[in-house]
Amino acid sequence: MQPPRLTDDCFALPPGVNWTPVDTALELLRTRLTGVVASEVLPLAQLSGRVLAQPLAAVRDNPPTANSAVDGFGFAHASLGTGVQVLSLVDGRSAAGTPFAGTVPLGQAIRILTGAQLPGGVDSVVMQEDVTEQDGQIAFHGGIKPGANARKAGEDVIATTVLFQPGHKLQPQDIALMAAVGLAQAEVFKPLRVGVLSTGDELLAAGASARPDQIFDANRPMLLAILRRWGMQAVDLGHARDDTDLLRDGLNRAAQTVDAILTSGGASAGQEDHLSAILQAEGEVHSWRIALKPGRPLALGLWCGVPIFGLPGNPVAAFVCTLIFARPALSVLAGGMWTEPQAFQVPAAFTKSKKPGRREYLRARLDGDGHAQAYHSEGSGRISGLSWADGLVELGDDAREIRVGDPVAYYPYGSFGL
Ligand code: AMP
Ligand code: MG
Repeated sequence: MQPPRLTDDCFALPPGVNWTPVDTALELLRTRLTGVVASEVLPLAQLSGRVLAQPLAAVRDNPPTANSAVDGFGFAHASLGTGVQVLSLVDGRSAAGTPFAGTVPLGQAIRILTGAQLPGGVDSVVMQEDVTEQDGQIAFHGGIKPGANARKAGEDVIATTVLFQPGHKLQPQDIALMAAVGLAQAEVFKPLRVGVLSTGDELLAAGASARPDQIFDANRPMLLAILRRWGMQAVDLGHARDDTDLLRDGLNRAAQTVDAILTSGGASAGQEDHLSAILQAEGEVHSWRIALKPGRPLALGLWCGVPIFGLPGNPVAAFVCTLIFARPALSVLAGGMWTEPQAFQVPAAFTKSKKPGRREYLRARLDGDGHAQAYHSEGSGRISGLSWADGLVELGDDAREIRVGDPVAYYPYGSFGL
């Protein structure tokens, strides 16, 4: 089954809105986008990183029966009195996978190993390290609590409990839980196919022989790598020169094969900004001037029903806009949840006078004391700062004087799924 298409006005700004605050832009994306991919059923081994299309409920208790948490000796707690305890051992033992078939009489004990089912008549276990064993008897000190060292049936999960809702992205630990409660497969969304197209006459593929006025395309390999990290199917759409016809061809071809398109460059209103021009003229476009540094021009549109994120050309701005806007939006298109990166308040190791009216993201990294250092330059062509950093510091839309030691919101790259 295929979900419904996005509506033509899904990127429209409310009338009168000009400079869009970051939160407004995010809210519009959050409320207007929906999943666009079909689902499939896959076995456990292929589920890591996939997004659930149906709720998952446990089919079995975990653990399925009461069992021992230690190697030791099991008995009924009612067998115990005060002071030193001496119990005689029954013949046989209970081991993981080889339970004891009989019942242990009151006043007796049985050897039991970690993970072994508690035999009938046993509700408590004493660790073997706390016991002396001799001539078919064990001795240990009193004071053992009822149920000591025993795991109850279903103490972790009860059968029929709903573990995860649709939209949850399955992590390795979730797959362990699924296996434990008897689930061997799940219905998940097919990976979102996201095409990446670079625009600009100055661009060459890395490794080509370049004239001094040409630069190597840095955004495309970066964006393809980010998408793969996010579990999406990254499709290399190559590079389009600053030519309306070539760009149209590129977009038409892409719209046949992908679910969403990321372009970089040509998104402003300049003479050579063909992407925003062609989207305005022939697509459903809403050019958003986002009150964001680095960023600003972000063209959001539909081309033949396929959503396009027209990212800025500057690699730092393209990177930041991808993490802030494309990540949650693509996550929703992929059938997943709207993602909110996790921020940590840490003391600043820098000073800065921040202007009002736009949000700013600084390339940042934590020093040994957990203070956020900011990269020495805010130039959005300084790609090396992205590698120097291990996250971003977010400075809110209002003016702010930041002194050393003031708290700032730090987002490790990991909180963007990198
Ligand atoms: P534009 O938005 O097309 O005006 O590009 C802004 C700046 O980003 C210019 O300096 C471009 O040369 C540069 N740029 C655009 N696309 C890329 C790219 N794919 N890789 C590296 N730099 C780029
Ligand atoms: Mg350009």
